[in-house]
Amino acid sequence: MSSNNYSPEHKARELLHSFGILKPPINPYNICSRLNIKISHAYFDKANAFFTLKNGVKEIILNHSINYSLREKFTIAHEIGHYWLNHGQITACPTSDIMNYESNEKIELEADRFAAELLMPSFTFAEDVDKLPLSIRSFKILAKKYKTSLTSTAIKFIENTKFPGAIFLSSNGKISLKFKSNKFNYTLRHNDELNPHSYAYDYFIRNIDPPNAPVRVCSDAWLDDENAFHSFTEHSFPYRNFNQVLTLIQHN
Ligand SMILES: [Zn+2]
Repeated sequence: MSSNNYSPEHKARELLHSFGILKPPINPYNICSRLNIKISHAYFDKANAFFTLKNGVKEIILNHSINYSLREKFTIAHEIGHYWLNHGQITACPTSDIMNYESNEKIELEADRFAAELLMPSFTFAEDVDKLPLSIRSFKILAKKYKTSLTSTAIKFIENTKFPGAIFLSSNGKISLKFKSNKFNYTLRHNDELNPHSYAYDYFIRNIDPPNAPVRVCSDAWLDDENAFHSFTEHSFPYRNFNQVLTLIQHN
């Protein structure tokens, strides 16, 4: 089911403006109460969350297994998206789709884009990105300001930055997400297996902590270009509790 001609980002900004919410951090719980959307929790196997609209009653049902507050916040913003984008009476969101951004299902992808814009609206976020260099530290500064996860902040940052660079998220030893900025003219690694030349590989496979700053790395660690003679830097940041690593790749 298609929402309408406006982009999910446009619709998210429209919702914020209609409530006069113009400054971060955005509180999606507050938006739910203003939209009369109930939030409840339940146990279920395959889904992460539901949005239901029944007899005029709007409800978001979250899986009890969501045990991370920033993830719950993003999930609620995603479910508000299903409502605000008119995705239907009931939507069930599979676990793998939330914060995946690469879902094949159109409405799931739309809800993710809506959620990212709702929590990091471009009318403030783009200005903030403009003032900052492309770095893990900048991701942390804005994640703190917007009260968003480092990964979702990094993705939104890379979409908005004027600097060339790319980010990868590796989960349990495999690349699970990758994004590059407009100015980054190289082909990101196609293979999901980590390359042994990368520091992220060392973290997962050899149990060695990555350096706490950008360090030079072979281009084949993260890129597929055979002609990528330029040297690159890798800054990998481990999320120890989740067995994940966020990696930023830049020109040296
Ligand atoms: Zn969904």
